[in-house]
Amino acid sequence: MSAADTHDYDEAQQLIARTVREFARNEVAHGAEERDATSQFDYGLYQRLGDLGVPGMLYPEEVGGSAAGTLAFCLAVEEISRVDMSLGWVLWVGAPGAVSMLRGSQEQRDAWMEPYILPMVRGETVSGGGITEPDAGSDTAGAKTRAVRDGNEWVINGSKIFISNAGMENCAFVSVLARTDDGFGLFIVPSGTPGYTMGSPLKKMGLRSADTRELFFDDCRVPSYHLMGGSGSGRKQVVGSGFALTRIYLASQGVGVAAECLDLALERARTRVAFKRPIGRFQYVQGMLVDMYVELESARMLRDKAARKHDARQPIVREAAVAKLFCTESAKRAADSAVQVFGGLGYMDETPVSRYYRDIRAATIAEGTSQIQKHIIARELGVMG
Ligand SMILES: Cc1cc2nc3c(=O)[nH]c(=O)nc-3n(C[C@H](O)[C@H](O)[C@H](O)COP(=O)(O)OP(=O)(O)OC[C@H]3O[C@@H](n4cnc5c(N)ncnc54)[C@H](O)[C@@H]3O)c2cc1C
Repeated sequence: MSAADTHDYDEAQQLIARTVREFARNEVAHGAEERDATSQFDYGLYQRLGDLGVPGMLYPEEVGGSAAGTLAFCLAVEEISRVDMSLGWVLWVGAPGAVSMLRGSQEQRDAWMEPYILPMVRGETVSGGGITEPDAGSDTAGAKTRAVRDGNEWVINGSKIFISNAGMENCAFVSVLARTDDGFGLFIVPSGTPGYTMGSPLKKMGLRSADTRELFFDDCRVPSYHLMGGSGSGRKQVVGSGFALTRIYLASQGVGVAAECLDLALERARTRVAFKRPIGRFQYVQGMLVDMYVELESARMLRDKAARKHDARQPIVREAAVAKLFCTESAKRAADSAVQVFGGLGYMDETPVSRYYRDIRAATIAEGTSQIQKHIIARELGVMG
């Protein structure tokens, strides 16, 4: 069941879903297992995704993008994630990083256009976002990394942990949340800046070809115009608008993984014979497949609702939290059921379902855990006091 075959997407969105699906099936799928086994990222593959125009979908035409919109980008993330969740992760974390740079001052846009914005639109570079610290994850306000103004520069000291993309060889910069005298600032720290170093890639349960590291800032100096948005607005940018959007992208990974798990499980249920009949004839197996389908349909509607509201320039904090919570939790259940339908084979690396089971586990933790999404939804419902 392709996104292009279901639901009321417009012609342009259907074309994007079909095109990315074809690319995913023809160019991404066959190497996914090997990349997972070796924890290697394929930079050429990401560039080909760039040539296809996928990273540029969120950018306006004047910088070489296609302004395809949030829902269209979500459909692309979904199709990539159906075959390789690591690549989908690098994409949604890494490609939108320069969008907010376009909202900067003229001085900032001029300075950032050639080194950061244009290469990211073309898929030559990615970015990372450094929010989490060893002692401050869900509680972003507890971040201790500090930025102090010194003439025309900011001096950053502290560390970040579990940061996606920052260690990749095509990573141009990381956006770092740091405490300032008037609250928090969000700072652009280019890769290679003196005083900015990182640890080795962290060894993960899944998402193995996506890079995750600890970052260190030791008297790291960036120009004063590398402060994004207004002074003191860093946390608001991240916790408010930033996370809401990335939650919809991550929800799309959930939709993709759940859709693929369902297709694989359906095929297995039709062909695997036990007690002289296909296992799909057994009601307990049917129950798993039906639950997967109903949850997938519900997840897609919630993701689409949030993305469409964003495309209509409406607030999405509540919808994004609902979509993120349901799409990632239901995808986790779908991967679990797929392993169950496959039986012993599902536990082996010979089938992709075991990879999906490991990969999707991160989705209910990153970009705000499921518990934090419930906290946000309760606040939106006005029951937080
Ligand atoms: C694969 C991966 C990639 C990541 N990439 C990035 C990245 O690129 N950039 C980045 O900044 N971070 C990244 N993270 C970090 C991620 O955002 C944090 O792990 C997450 O926000 C949770 O923070 P924590 O790990 O400190 O857990 P904690 O905050 O310590 O939470 C531990 C447990 O307590 C619960 N809990 C905490 N507070 C509350 C509360 N108020 N109410 C109810 N329950 C609560 C949590 O839900 C969780 O179950 C990544 C994580 C993973 C796994």
